[in-house]
Amino acid sequence: MKSPKADLHIHTKKSDGKLAPADIVKKASEKGLCTISITDHDTYAGYFEAKSAGDDLGVEVLPGIEITSEYKDRECHILGYGFDLGNAEFSAFVKSQKLRRYKRARRMIQNLGKMGFDISIEEVIGEAGTMNISRNHLAKVMVSKGMAPNVRVVFDRYLGNRSPAYFKIGYESAEEVIRLIKSAGGISILAHPGLYYVEEDIKYFIEAEIDGFEYIHPSHNYLLQKRYREICEQNGLIATGGSDYHGFRPEDESYFGTVAVDSSTVAHIKRLTVDRKKQHTSQ
Ligand code: AMP
Ligand code: MN
Ligand code: MN
Ligand code: MN
Repeated sequence: MKSPKADLHIHTKKSDGKLAPADIVKKASEKGLCTISITDHDTYAGYFEAKSAGDDLGVEVLPGIEITSEYKDRECHILGYGFDLGNAEFSAFVKSQKLRRYKRARRMIQNLGKMGFDISIEEVIGEAGTMNISRNHLAKVMVSKGMAPNVRVVFDRYLGNRSPAYFKIGYESAEEVIRLIKSAGGISILAHPGLYYVEEDIKYFIEAEIDGFEYIHPSHNYLLQKRYREICEQNGLIATGGSDYHGFRPEDESYFGTVAVDSSTVAHIKRLTVDRKKQHTSQ
């Protein structure tokens, strides 16, 4: 029998994805996925709509988020699953990430201003709506004002990580983010570790009590999958995965429903979150 599949890394309109949460659930149902998690950047706002669509269509939806943190002066993405949605400390932290992104956008707008490009925070908010502001929103405003032919050019010339108008804001450390997720009863996973990390880094994350590594990801070849699966097995950690679907690139469509993990991964996550919640309520 074919074992049911789960996609634990998906973006929606609530961050930088194309589809609404309910449309993702519909798509998941069509592809025969049993479980999904919406992991938007620094927000879990998509969970509620996805959960109610999932209840209707028989797709399980796990609370999820992809948090931007910092490790060794670089952005480090940490996935959180199964956290308690009513946890005050965690929801305050998520709110603070939104503010951080707003402040960062203002600094990039200033930098662009010095380069002769006049865009306003209001225009950027007009683009972002209720979503967390990302560089994509700034880029879209610039394109719509004829300052660049397309978003890619904006990143290449102005807003890319090494480009002149980019502003790097300090994010919370990876270690602190791991702690926050845990104290909200959730589990933390290092997203798409890929080629970035050497043995010393892996050791660091394990000592920081990360709960697992994302071993299945479109950017991972078989060797990387094997590497991270083995690291998880050897350390008793959870090996997760998903398509990192955004919906803008043609290849996203072939990954969705294919780049996925077995439902036993979901069972592992749920076991751990149940245990963790018990620990917290008994303390
Ligand atoms: P932010 O979350 O504000 O740092 O923006 C990150 C988003 O910008 C990513 O999710 C991508 O969608 C987009 N992005 C980053 N680098 C590039 C690039 N070189 N070209 C196009 N889009 C990019
Ligand atoms: Mn993204
Ligand atoms: Mn990521
Ligand atoms: Mn992602």
